[in-house]
Amino acid sequence: MVGRLRCMLNWHAPRRNAVRWDGDNFVGHCRNCEKPILRLRKRRWALREDG
Ligand SMILES: [Zn+2]
Repeated sequence: MVGRLRCMLNWHAPRRNAVRWDGDNFVGHCRNCEKPILRLRKRRWALREDG
């Protein structure tokens, strides 16, 4: 699955309808691996280390 491969490269894709602003960043959950992610810049999301 393409999505899973991207996740292995730490290139996640958010669930659009579940993205929110936490005061500093856009945060959400990956639609492929379900892990918490954070937006670095447009179309670039990375895993959130802080959980
Ligand atoms: Zn993912």
